Amino acid sequence: MVQSKLINYLEYLRNIFGETVIIEKHPLFDFEEEIKNCKRCDLSLGRTNFVFGKGCPNADVLFVGEAPGEAEDLSGIPFIGRAGKLLDKMLEEISLEREDVFIANVLKCRPPENRDPKPNEIALCETYLHKQIEIIKPRIIIALGRIAGQTLLNIKAALKDMKGKTYTYRGVDLEVIYHPAAILRNMGLIDNYKADFHRLADKYDLRGNK
Ligand code: URA
Repeated sequence: MVQSKLINYLEYLRNIFGETVIIEKHPLFDFEEEIKNCKRCDLSLGRTNFVFGKGCPNADVLFVGEAPGEAEDLSGIPFIGRAGKLLDKMLEEISLEREDVFIANVLKCRPPENRDPKPNEIALCETYLHKQIEIIKPRIIIALGRIAGQTLLNIKAALKDMKGKTYTYRGVDLEVIYHPAAILRNMGLIDNYKADFHRLADKYDLRGNK
Protein backbone atom coordinates (compact mmCIF):
# COMPACT_ATOMS: atom_id res chain seq x y z
CA MET A 1 0.00 0.00 0.00
CA VAL A 2 1.49 3.36 -0.90
CA GLN A 3 2.26 5.73 1.96
CA SER A 4 -0.40 8.35 1.10
CA LYS A 5 -3.15 5.67 1.09
CA LEU A 6 -1.87 4.38 4.42
CA ILE A 7 -2.05 7.87 5.92
CA ASN A 8 -5.65 8.25 4.66
CA TYR A 9 -6.50 4.93 6.26
CA LEU A 10 -4.92 5.98 9.58
CA GLU A 11 -6.92 9.19 9.49
CA TYR A 12 -10.07 7.17 8.88
CA LEU A 13 -9.24 5.00 11.92
CA ARG A 14 -8.60 8.13 13.94
CA ASN A 15 -12.07 9.39 13.09
CA ILE A 16 -13.48 6.20 14.57
CA PHE A 17 -11.16 5.66 17.55
CA GLY A 18 -10.12 9.23 18.28
CA GLU A 19 -6.79 10.30 19.73
CA THR A 20 -5.78 6.73 20.73
CA VAL A 21 -4.57 6.41 17.14
CA ILE A 22 -1.38 8.46 17.05
CA ILE A 23 -0.24 9.75 13.67
CA GLU A 24 3.27 11.14 13.63
CA LYS A 25 3.99 13.60 10.87
CA HIS A 26 6.91 12.63 8.66
CA PRO A 27 9.90 15.01 9.04
CA LEU A 28 9.68 15.77 5.33
CA PHE A 29 6.29 17.41 5.86
CA ASP A 30 7.67 19.38 8.81
CA PHE A 31 10.47 20.55 6.54
CA GLU A 32 7.93 21.67 3.92
CA GLU A 33 6.11 23.72 6.57
CA GLU A 34 9.43 25.23 7.62
CA ILE A 35 10.45 26.47 4.16
CA LYS A 36 7.24 27.02 2.20
CA ASN A 37 7.23 30.78 2.80
CA CYS A 38 10.84 31.13 1.65
CA LYS A 39 11.95 34.60 0.57
CA ARG A 40 15.62 33.81 -0.03
CA CYS A 41 15.55 35.11 -3.60
CA ASP A 42 13.44 37.30 -5.88
CA LEU A 43 11.64 34.33 -7.43
CA SER A 44 9.47 34.37 -4.31
CA LEU A 45 8.04 37.73 -5.42
CA GLY A 46 6.49 36.34 -8.60
CA ARG A 47 5.36 32.93 -7.44
CA THR A 48 1.81 31.70 -6.93
CA ASN A 49 2.98 28.60 -5.07
CA PHE A 50 6.21 27.29 -3.60
CA VAL A 51 6.62 23.87 -5.24
CA PHE A 52 8.26 21.76 -2.53
CA GLY A 53 7.87 18.43 -4.33
CA LYS A 54 5.46 15.57 -3.89
CA GLY A 55 5.33 11.84 -3.42
CA CYS A 56 6.44 9.18 -0.98
CA PRO A 57 8.63 10.64 1.80
CA ASN A 58 10.62 7.38 1.99
CA ALA A 59 10.87 6.81 -1.75
CA ASP A 60 13.67 4.75 -3.29
CA VAL A 61 13.66 7.06 -6.31
CA LEU A 62 13.93 10.82 -6.29
CA PHE A 63 13.28 12.55 -9.61
CA VAL A 64 14.74 16.03 -9.87
CA GLY A 65 13.69 18.46 -12.59
CA GLU A 66 14.85 21.97 -13.27
CA ALA A 67 12.18 24.31 -11.91
CA PRO A 68 8.39 24.62 -11.81
CA GLY A 69 6.65 25.79 -14.97
CA GLU A 70 3.36 27.64 -15.21
CA ALA A 71 1.07 24.70 -14.36
CA GLU A 72 3.28 23.76 -11.42
CA ASP A 73 3.38 27.35 -10.12
CA LEU A 74 -0.41 27.53 -10.29
CA SER A 75 -1.03 24.15 -8.64
CA GLY A 76 1.96 23.81 -6.28
CA ILE A 77 2.53 20.29 -7.69
CA PRO A 78 5.68 19.36 -9.66
CA PHE A 79 5.43 17.94 -13.19
CA ILE A 80 1.67 18.35 -13.43
CA GLY A 81 1.58 19.66 -17.03
CA ARG A 82 2.06 17.76 -20.32
CA ALA A 83 5.62 16.75 -19.49
CA GLY A 84 4.40 15.41 -16.15
CA LYS A 85 1.75 13.29 -17.87
CA LEU A 86 4.50 11.67 -19.92
CA LEU A 87 6.52 11.08 -16.76
CA ASP A 88 3.46 9.34 -15.27
CA LYS A 89 3.29 7.10 -18.37
CA MET A 90 6.96 6.20 -17.99
CA LEU A 91 6.39 5.31 -14.35
CA GLU A 92 3.50 3.12 -15.43
CA GLU A 93 5.92 1.31 -17.77
CA ILE A 94 7.76 0.07 -14.69
CA SER A 95 4.58 -0.49 -12.64
CA LEU A 96 5.04 2.56 -10.44
CA GLU A 97 2.78 5.46 -9.59
CA ARG A 98 3.67 8.99 -8.62
CA GLU A 99 2.91 8.15 -5.00
CA ASP A 100 5.67 5.50 -5.02
CA VAL A 101 8.43 7.98 -5.91
CA PHE A 102 9.31 11.53 -4.90
CA ILE A 103 9.34 14.26 -7.54
CA ALA A 104 11.07 17.59 -6.91
CA ASN A 105 12.97 20.31 -8.71
CA VAL A 106 16.27 22.09 -8.17
CA LEU A 107 14.39 25.39 -7.86
CA LYS A 108 11.18 25.48 -5.86
CA CYS A 109 9.79 28.63 -7.49
CA ARG A 110 9.07 29.35 -11.16
CA PRO A 111 11.57 31.57 -12.97
CA PRO A 112 9.84 34.26 -15.09
CA GLU A 113 8.97 32.98 -18.60
CA ASN A 114 10.58 29.67 -17.61
CA ARG A 115 14.08 31.07 -18.14
CA ASP A 116 17.06 29.00 -16.99
CA PRO A 117 17.85 29.14 -13.26
CA LYS A 118 20.49 31.70 -12.29
CA PRO A 119 23.58 30.66 -10.28
CA ASN A 120 22.52 32.66 -7.19
CA GLU A 121 19.03 31.08 -7.28
CA ILE A 122 20.58 27.62 -7.51
CA ALA A 123 23.03 28.34 -4.69
CA LEU A 124 20.21 29.52 -2.41
CA CYS A 125 17.70 26.81 -3.27
CA GLU A 126 19.90 23.73 -3.67
CA THR A 127 20.38 23.44 0.09
CA TYR A 128 16.65 22.63 0.31
CA LEU A 129 17.21 19.74 -2.07
CA HIS A 130 20.15 18.58 0.06
CA LYS A 131 17.91 18.43 3.12
CA GLN A 132 15.18 16.62 1.13
CA ILE A 133 17.75 13.99 0.15
CA GLU A 134 18.90 13.64 3.77
CA ILE A 135 15.32 13.02 4.89
CA ILE A 136 14.06 10.86 2.01
CA LYS A 137 17.27 8.82 1.70
CA PRO A 138 16.58 7.67 -1.88
CA ARG A 139 18.64 4.85 -3.41
CA ILE A 140 18.78 6.61 -6.76
CA ILE A 141 18.37 10.20 -7.90
CA ILE A 142 17.20 10.62 -11.49
CA ALA A 143 17.94 14.06 -12.90
CA LEU A 144 15.46 15.01 -15.61
CA GLY A 145 17.17 16.85 -18.43
CA ARG A 146 20.38 18.65 -19.23
CA ILE A 147 19.88 21.63 -16.93
CA ALA A 148 19.06 19.50 -13.87
CA GLY A 149 22.01 17.22 -14.65
CA GLN A 150 24.47 20.05 -15.22
CA THR A 151 23.27 21.89 -12.13
CA LEU A 152 23.50 18.96 -9.76
CA LEU A 153 26.81 17.73 -11.15
CA ASN A 154 28.27 21.20 -11.57
CA ILE A 155 29.52 20.35 -15.06
CA LYS A 156 28.85 21.79 -18.51
CA ALA A 157 28.35 18.46 -20.31
CA ALA A 158 25.81 17.71 -23.05
CA LEU A 159 22.93 15.43 -22.10
CA LYS A 160 24.19 12.65 -24.41
CA ASP A 161 27.48 12.63 -22.49
CA MET A 162 25.82 12.44 -19.05
CA LYS A 163 23.14 9.91 -20.01
CA GLY A 164 24.01 6.29 -19.23
CA LYS A 165 26.66 7.16 -16.64
CA THR A 166 26.33 6.71 -12.90
CA TYR A 167 27.39 9.71 -10.84
CA THR A 168 27.25 10.33 -7.09
CA TYR A 169 25.42 13.29 -5.57
CA ARG A 170 25.39 13.83 -1.79
CA GLY A 171 26.43 10.17 -1.42
CA VAL A 172 23.58 8.84 -3.60
CA ASP A 173 23.79 7.33 -7.11
CA LEU A 174 22.61 9.82 -9.71
CA GLU A 175 21.71 9.21 -13.35
CA VAL A 176 20.69 11.79 -15.91
CA ILE A 177 17.97 11.05 -18.46
CA TYR A 178 16.03 13.22 -20.92
CA HIS A 179 13.56 15.77 -19.61
CA PRO A 180 10.07 14.51 -20.60
CA ALA A 181 9.46 17.83 -22.40
CA ALA A 182 12.37 16.94 -24.71
CA ILE A 183 10.60 13.69 -25.62
CA LEU A 184 7.36 15.60 -26.31
CA ARG A 185 9.34 17.75 -28.75
CA ASN A 186 10.80 14.67 -30.45
CA MET A 187 8.62 11.59 -30.06
CA GLY A 188 11.20 9.65 -32.07
CA LEU A 189 13.06 9.33 -28.75
CA ILE A 190 10.22 7.62 -26.89
CA ASP A 191 11.57 4.07 -27.20
CA ASN A 192 14.94 5.23 -26.01
CA TYR A 193 13.23 6.95 -23.05
CA LYS A 194 11.27 3.82 -22.15
CA ALA A 195 14.49 1.81 -22.36
CA ASP A 196 16.12 4.17 -19.85
CA PHE A 197 13.27 3.64 -17.37
CA HIS A 198 13.49 -0.14 -17.79
CA ARG A 199 17.28 -0.08 -17.46
CA LEU A 200 17.12 1.92 -14.23
CA ALA A 201 14.24 -0.20 -12.88
CA ASP A 202 16.35 -3.32 -13.46
CA LYS A 203 19.55 -1.85 -12.11
CA TYR A 204 17.98 -0.52 -8.89
CA ASP A 205 15.20 -3.10 -8.54
CA LEU A 206 12.54 -0.39 -8.67
CA ARG A 207 9.61 -2.13 -10.32
CA GLY A 208 6.30 -1.95 -8.50
CA ASN A 209 4.22 -5.10 -8.21
CA LYS A 210 1.06 -4.13 -10.06
N1 URA B 1 9.71 21.02 -15.83
C1 URA B 1 10.47 20.86 -14.73
O1 URA B 1 11.70 20.81 -14.82
N2 URA B 1 9.85 20.77 -13.56
C2 URA B 1 8.53 20.77 -13.41
O2 URA B 1 8.03 20.65 -12.29
C3 URA B 1 7.76 20.93 -14.57
C4 URA B 1 8.35 21.04 -15.77
